[in-house]
Amino acid sequence: MKTIISNKKNKTDVSTVASERIGKLPPYLFAEIDRLKRELLKKGKDIIDLGVGDPDLPTPKFIIEALREAAGDPKNHRYALDQGLPEFRNTIAEWFQNRYGIKLDPNREVLPLIGSKEGIGHLPLAIVNPRDVVLVPNPGYPVYQSATWFAGGTPVSMPLLPENQFLPDLGSIKESALKRAKLMYLNYPNNPTGACATKQFFKEVLRVSKQYGFVVCHDAAYNEMTYEGYRAPSIFEVSGTKERVVEFHSLSKTFNMTGWRVGFAVGNEHILRCLAKVKSNLDSGIFQAIQWSAITALRDGGDWVKKNCAIYERRRDILISGLNEIGWKVEKPKATFYVWIPVPAGYTSSRLTAKLLEEANLVVTPGNGFGTYGEGYIRMSLTIHESRLSEAIQRIKNLR
Ligand SMILES: *Cc1c(COP(=O)(O)O)cnc(C)c1O
Repeated sequence: MKTIISNKKNKTDVSTVASERIGKLPPYLFAEIDRLKRELLKKGKDIIDLGVGDPDLPTPKFIIEALREAAGDPKNHRYALDQGLPEFRNTIAEWFQNRYGIKLDPNREVLPLIGSKEGIGHLPLAIVNPRDVVLVPNPGYPVYQSATWFAGGTPVSMPLLPENQFLPDLGSIKESALKRAKLMYLNYPNNPTGACATKQFFKEVLRVSKQYGFVVCHDAAYNEMTYEGYRAPSIFEVSGTKERVVEFHSLSKTFNMTGWRVGFAVGNEHILRCLAKVKSNLDSGIFQAIQWSAITALRDGGDWVKKNCAIYERRRDILISGLNEIGWKVEKPKATFYVWIPVPAGYTSSRLTAKLLEEANLVVTPGNGFGTYGEGYIRMSLTIHESRLSEAIQRIKNLR
């Protein structure tokens, strides 16, 4: 009787309505920065925001035109198919063959997504059981960990350390964790460190995944954003087979399309079928006009992507040479629009972030927001104009 009453009370007290799984999420470390930023903006300060991982430039016109046309066709106004338009899946398979030399079955080995985050986040619901371990990079994209929690899995950190070029040291993962592992998340070119993986590293990963029988999920959101002729590999260029592996691609960063919500998963058909099952119970596909736009982007966007990368490459060079002049030792990333910066002696990630915001009106992202092993770093994004990057450097030079 008593428990029934207390349950009832619990249910009507809306301030405690959050589920336990929501309560488990780490505190949002960027909330305090957002608050400070808004306060300074209200005071009329000229804030330079190096914090956001969202392209500042617009989606190219040829893609917008494709949307305009497709939006006018009533066929595109209805529920989309769960698996996406066959034309979209075919285009993805063709693009993959051209870009990576890998053959995909468009009906079984390709799954369109409402942005890659959607698929990355739903994947544990599709394949992870309670008590299963999920190996997650630390620092890393926060979704890997929260999605693991939502599915009742246990995230186990793989530290990304500078002495290992920010690749997880597979040999140092505990045997007990490997035995319980159902899934490993990887992300190269990497957010937040800007590091790139070698084919040799992927080879090692696949060997360990085969030995212990876990699935590898490679998040390739930045594979098309590379510099100086560097070409980021697909994990399938190494694996030969698609056993136990899925790879997530996104049009968001590649084509300045973050708001459009479109990406795709490729790889093992059994894993993709499980993911599609979760999705068919939760969403009803991607607006077809957006799928037609994505088809246009993948078919016709090659030259545009090269020009877009050249813009980021110039920005990167300005920021890195400026930081080096100041005496901050920073590596030039070969890919991504992030620069991962060790904080000078005497600072923590948070203290440097606060100082830059308060005294130079620069917003950066503290590394510890991406996990404990991000402590001692800040991340800057190349998503602002060259002149503003130069201004940001000048402001840091003027700091005492
Ligand atoms: C931006 C980003 C994504 C998500 O991209 P969407 O396709 O827009 O959902 C996935 N992974 C990483 C590491 C990212 O930085």
